[in-house]
Amino acid sequence: MPSTPLISVVVPCYDEEAVLERTHRRLTAVLRRLPDCAHEVVYVDDGSRDGTWRTLASVTGGDPAVRLLRLTRNFGHQQAILAGLRAAAGDAVVTMDADLQDPPELIPELVERWRAGWSVVSARRTSRAGESRFKVVTAHVYYRLLAALADQPVALDTGDFRLLDRSVVRLLAELPEGEPYLRGSVCWAGFPETSVAYERLPRPAGRSKYSLRKMADLSRRGLVSCSPAPARAPAVIGLTWLGGAAMTVAVRRHRLPLAAWTFGCEAVLLGLLGEYLRLVHRELRGRPPYVLLERHPPQPGGQPAGPVPAPDGTVRPLAVARGAQDRAAQ
Ligand code: UDP
Ligand code: MG
Repeated sequence: MPSTPLISVVVPCYDEEAVLERTHRRLTAVLRRLPDCAHEVVYVDDGSRDGTWRTLASVTGGDPAVRLLRLTRNFGHQQAILAGLRAAAGDAVVTMDADLQDPPELIPELVERWRAGWSVVSARRTSRAGESRFKVVTAHVYYRLLAALADQPVALDTGDFRLLDRSVVRLLAELPEGEPYLRGSVCWAGFPETSVAYERLPRPAGRSKYSLRKMADLSRRGLVSCSPAPARAPAVIGLTWLGGAAMTVAVRRHRLPLAAWTFGCEAVLLGLLGEYLRLVHRELRGRPPYVLLERHPPQPGGQPAGPVPAPDGTVRPLAVARGAQDRAAQ
């Protein structure tokens, strides 16, 4: 870790003109007080329809520590964060919402944990003041369902307020997924992770940009990204159904209509197709088969400083490229 590390903060903004002045003031006040750190802020305007872009330019005007990105249209929260991650140069990158529900004052604690050696430091919500009962209850149930179905442990009660070490950012930024679900990708990557608790406060201004449709889309994305369960569900239903049908015939000596057997068989066949689709989906997402955390003894000639061209000329993330070299060495 450099003696004066650069801390980047990525802030996705969609129709946030009402709050940005306050956000920038509080954020820069915190960042300027960070001991022995340089900082930069990357604001990403995700195709706002209001004066967000103008407001960003005026409230940050001339600050050399600020970078502004503007997407052509509204691509969504996750894509906006990804654009910011790809632009951020920091040794550690914090991602946070623009609406001050993620308090900037927590950043020093995130940085402290990172300095203690953690690659991922997530901010864990202990309360969600100012959010509708519907949102609190559905989020609670959804994340517990996701944790039960996911094939990797999923951090509970965390959104996208977290700090990522450069090694994690490098990996995430290079993943070619068209529909990113970053909190799932962070869990999948498996870097050492800790969390810091905080109280999520109400928005001081503006309204939530997460419509019901956007929430449903994010939930679907999370489930498909983290869990094989949706693809496997038809096979599980079909096998359970056929098992129940067989028991009925064997124990109760009832004859069952042909339609009952046909339904079970069709569900199992759908499940088989689902399994193939899942494998195709996995290949298309282009995630590497594994991610290397470190190696001892260090690579001869030292660690490469950035993404390494693979033998076929494509540039892969550093950790992946190291993995590929390991495989080649076996
Ligand atoms: N956001 C975005 N694109 C969108 C929706 C939201 O960049 O399509 C940003 C938004 O400006 C905010 C963050 O994502 O910085 C979280 O959105 P919001 O506060 O509306 O979500 P909520 O806290 O209500 O879940
Ligand atoms: Mg919010």
